[in-house]
Amino acid sequence: MSTHQTATDQRQAVADTLQSLVDRNLTRGTSGNVSMRSADGMLITPTGMAPDQLLPEHIVAMSLAGQVADDQLTPSSEWQMHADVYREKTEVAAIVHCHSPYATILACAGRPIPPLHYMVAAADSYGIPLADYAIFGSKQLSRCNLEALSGSKACLLANHGQLATGKNLQEALKLADLVEELAHCYWGTLCIGGPQLLDNTQMEAVQQAFITYGQQKPS
Ligand code: 13P
Ligand code: ZN
Repeated sequence: MSTHQTATDQRQAVADTLQSLVDRNLTRGTSGNVSMRSADGMLITPTGMAPDQLLPEHIVAMSLAGQVADDQLTPSSEWQMHADVYREKTEVAAIVHCHSPYATILACAGRPIPPLHYMVAAADSYGIPLADYAIFGSKQLSRCNLEALSGSKACLLANHGQLATGKNLQEALKLADLVEELAHCYWGTLCIGGPQLLDNTQMEAVQQAFITYGQQKPS
């Protein structure tokens, strides 16, 4: 959570992230939702609203127990799935859920993403797990999601879509984008005979290499 942002900046950032999902072809219509952790709970997108209509005041501030002040819009139907992640995973401060096309194809085919590409390790796991099916907006879906996230920063949701977490909104959005890229790649390999998977030793080496990857000097 960023402390230098004002409350309005934070609301704008949540709304902008939902619009970014549309701009990146990761969602369409009113599918998908975005949240960030706040001092007293979370800020989450309202249910059933087109991203391009969203104003900062439409973003719903609520407690992780589900309390919403009277003068606000109704929160995302998936508020419980978001709240339970913040309760269980203290390192998570932002969540992106979307029905991105290739992740959704795999989720509908019941196929978790195996370690077919080294970037799978960016989800802090050796594969993108698949959460069992439960109806959208349910406590049961939240349970299935939490179970899948127990060893990963992102997961597919069976017959539904995907969910990605991060330390901030940019990180969660970037991971949702990566999950979609990996899903596309996996789908492509399935069309030509299936992937050649990396083994645990190779994936462990990638995780080690990530520690020193990129610009190391403080900016
Ligand atoms: P909301 O509009 O309630 O956020 O629901 C969209 C969705 O993706 C449900 O899973
Ligand atoms: Zn959904």
